[in-house]
Amino acid sequence: MPANDLPVNSVSAQLSPTYDAVWQSQTVEQTVAALQTDLESGLSAQQVSDRQIKFGSNELEEKAGRGTWEIMIDQFKNIMLILLIAVAFISAALDLMNLLNGQVKPNDIPFKDTIAILAIVILNGVLGYLQESRAEKALAALKQLTSPRVRVTRAGKITEIDSKELVPGDVIQLEAGVQVAADGRLIEAANLQVRESALTGEAQAANKQPHKILTGDTALGDQVNLVFQGTEVVQGRGTVVVTNTGMQTELGKIATMLQDVENDPTPLQKRMDQLSQTLVTGSMTLVVIVVVGGIIFAGLDKWQQLVEVSLSMAVAVVPEGLPAVITVTLAIGTQRMVRRNALIRKLPAVETLGSVTNICSDKTGTLTQNKMVVQSLHTASSAVQISGEGYIPQGDFVVGGQPVNPQDYPEARALLLGCAMCNDSILQQDGQHWQILGDPTEGALVVAAAKANIERDQWKSKLPRVGEFPFTSERKRMSVIVQDVNGALRLESALPDVPYMMFMKGSPELVLERCSEIQQAHNAKPLTNAQRETILASNNELAGKGLRVLGFAYKPLQDVPPQDTEDSAEQGLVWLGLIDMLDAPRPEVKDAVVRCQSAGIRTMMITGDHQLTAQAIAQDLGIARAGEPVLVGRDLEKMDAQELEQQVQNVNVYARVAPEHKLRIVQALQNQDRIVAMTGDGVNDAPALKQANIGVAMGITGTDVSKEASDMVLLDDNFATIVAATEEGRVVYTNIRRFIKYILGSNIGEVLTIAATPLVLNGVFDVPLTPLQILWMNLVTDGLPALALAVEPAEPNVMDRAPNNPKESIFARGLGIYMVRIGIVLAILSVTLMWWSHGYTHANLTAADPNGDRWKTMVFTTLCLAQMGHAIAIRSNSQLTLTLNPLTNPYVWGSVILTSVLQLMLVYVEPLRNFFGTHYLNGTELAVCIGFSLLMFVWIEGEKLFTRKAQPAPRLAANDDWS
Ligand code: ATP
Repeated sequence: MPANDLPVNSVSAQLSPTYDAVWQSQTVEQTVAALQTDLESGLSAQQVSDRQIKFGSNELEEKAGRGTWEIMIDQFKNIMLILLIAVAFISAALDLMNLLNGQVKPNDIPFKDTIAILAIVILNGVLGYLQESRAEKALAALKQLTSPRVRVTRAGKITEIDSKELVPGDVIQLEAGVQVAADGRLIEAANLQVRESALTGEAQAANKQPHKILTGDTALGDQVNLVFQGTEVVQGRGTVVVTNTGMQTELGKIATMLQDVENDPTPLQKRMDQLSQTLVTGSMTLVVIVVVGGIIFAGLDKWQQLVEVSLSMAVAVVPEGLPAVITVTLAIGTQRMVRRNALIRKLPAVETLGSVTNICSDKTGTLTQNKMVVQSLHTASSAVQISGEGYIPQGDFVVGGQPVNPQDYPEARALLLGCAMCNDSILQQDGQHWQILGDPTEGALVVAAAKANIERDQWKSKLPRVGEFPFTSERKRMSVIVQDVNGALRLESALPDVPYMMFMKGSPELVLERCSEIQQAHNAKPLTNAQRETILASNNELAGKGLRVLGFAYKPLQDVPPQDTEDSAEQGLVWLGLIDMLDAPRPEVKDAVVRCQSAGIRTMMITGDHQLTAQAIAQDLGIARAGEPVLVGRDLEKMDAQELEQQVQNVNVYARVAPEHKLRIVQALQNQDRIVAMTGDGVNDAPALKQANIGVAMGITGTDVSKEASDMVLLDDNFATIVAATEEGRVVYTNIRRFIKYILGSNIGEVLTIAATPLVLNGVFDVPLTPLQILWMNLVTDGLPALALAVEPAEPNVMDRAPNNPKESIFARGLGIYMVRIGIVLAILSVTLMWWSHGYTHANLTAADPNGDRWKTMVFTTLCLAQMGHAIAIRSNSQLTLTLNPLTNPYVWGSVILTSVLQLMLVYVEPLRNFFGTHYLNGTELAVCIGFSLLMFVWIEGEKLFTRKAQPAPRLAANDDWS
């Protein structure tokens, strides 16, 4: 039967739930037959493409989120918008009254304020909606970048593919830490434990047993011979043939999206909501004061002007453009970070990164390159150097400076056989390029064995694996049990002729503890205390050089030990020797550590490796100085929380730790108000990653489970990327503060100007600014430069300052005072101008302005243009504008020019003039406005000079001081 004919029908039959229900009752052979696949070679390329067409992509449809209307309505729950809507209706009522009383001014369009305000409200809602759905999509797209990869056998070759490409019939591998990518029938498994809480709600991991055949009515949680999409492998290893993909999986049937996008408001957004409430309350209070005060002083007959004044004030207080600018800034922040290889999974992380005080990093792969190469091996009677580059399986074995044949060294040969057998990695050639599928440590061992012509693939069939006790970070060792089918051990190695053999590798101290004998030439001899001492001394010596060292041992067996007997089975082994490998530090890390130091961030190394290896690398990278203490997992375990809190204040290097120790270290730091970024890659790192303020997962080597638990994923696994991300976090926070003070300073200036009008103009209750003009200022002339300020690049000293304090108010460190001060300056400028121009325009009436109202347009223009000067000057709070390169943020200049032109159009284009209620200004009048506006710029530059002289910036000053 042609391969591409049948599966379509027979496999599609499985799509019905009734057929689905029987997978657990099928034997492996029946399953394989039904799915038309092959356990050894997997599906053929043709079968894969046919099935991809038939079954589509292995993806879950997105969970329907909030409906369009719901998101839309949510936008209007904002108190500032409610205030604006109220203003619109009151304004409409006033216009209606004027209309009925025949008091409409020439050229005036009735209800235009109402229309404009409502248009702005709707626009704000639409923008908010668009941003919210865009932010959701962008985050979801970013998450796709880390979509899980699966190791699959296809056309006789093992490869890694995107889990989306899986089809029924694919043969896939599972290992600790992966998220199961599709539903499937287990073919074989070693100590496989799967957490199925996503489906069954059961927190306890299920023990999987491929050989069980179950009845059709077995509950999902008891289907121990099947695995299900979205569940997590907590321990062990297994091979699975995929039965269902995409929406046909059990998870698909309950139709939830696996990776829910978290779009909680960020701490800053929450604070901004509080700010809105304060502003609205403040503005209401002011309105009451002005109206009541006005009535007391001017009498009730002025009520209409008073209402107009209060409407203008209410509109002036609301920073209409602010929420949009904040969302855009956070979105830009995530983009900038991803360009630097840091992928943000949760939006609040963008801000929190700017506050990080401690970075706790793994060593292997994050601080080091994870490109391991075995340097030498050490057995009872010899030390053999191994030459070669990278993963290329070519190199010489050298003893005492002379190349030797490893065949002549039986201990070394047995040790290299252990390297090949006790291993799950695969060495592959891709053109000229050799690559490793799997753990780089194990990859280095496969390469070393291959250099001695011990090919893992050949030996796998001579010594098939029949049992194993897998590696975990807690166990720090791994054992496999192989069956000697044809006496290969006797014929081709120096090891005893037994039916089964256990090979163990792991942390040398732990492996040695389990040994009672040592291999010498072809025999096992009792292991003396002196030999133990020598082995440990040589382990320490190698580790002290920063090398990664593994110990090897074997144990002859008559039977395969049962799964739950690891403690007794892994005893009484024969020591084979040590292997050391070089895992060089990443070159860029040293600089990154120095940058952290100057940025007030402490770098800490938390590793499962030996304390001396850890110490040597930490010293090399500048994380610890010679003689500084290293805390070892064993000692850490004995400490209570208080003791640990004491220790974490001084100790920068933690060695031989288990994942649960990481959690305790994060907690100890957090109890001292530290903001912690913690890296993790293993399945058991998830709790520490969740607990950390920024959980950082590894994009390349990290497990799916660790990625799911993280706030940020490093696409290049590199420590330096975390530092780059903290820098971006600081830039985002600084920019947000920068435009908040810019926007709110302007609002305060507007409110004060309106409130001061009757005082300055001797009881004239005339509003200099209509609500429409204020909206224009707040949205266009303030909004555009604010957006440009959001992309301001990092100031050169952004990493020479202390981290931001997340607890402080947004107005802390002088920002609030600055805003009020700048608001007052702005108000003084416009009020002075108002006082002068009111007299001037009344003395110089024109045909177009018979009432002398041009002073209002002059105030309006001055307020707008002064804000332009503010935008230019505010780019730096310490450096004079003249010393800044305008090209580092051309957007600020572009937005200033654009908004100035737009503002002038309101004065010089007649239809706009009519709509906005402005008047034509002659050259002199405009020049006066520009002159007054420039004073704002001069004032801020003067402030910089003054504060710089008054208080030279201390080192590690708090980030961006504006006091
Ligand atoms: P880091 O925590 O910095 O990533 P690490 O890789 O040394 O460093 P773990 O992966 O927790 O940390 O490993 C702990 C120890 O277990 C290692 O130092 C090594 O001695 C041993 N080990 C690592 N990988 C294996 C493996 N595949 N098989 C057996 N033992 C291993």
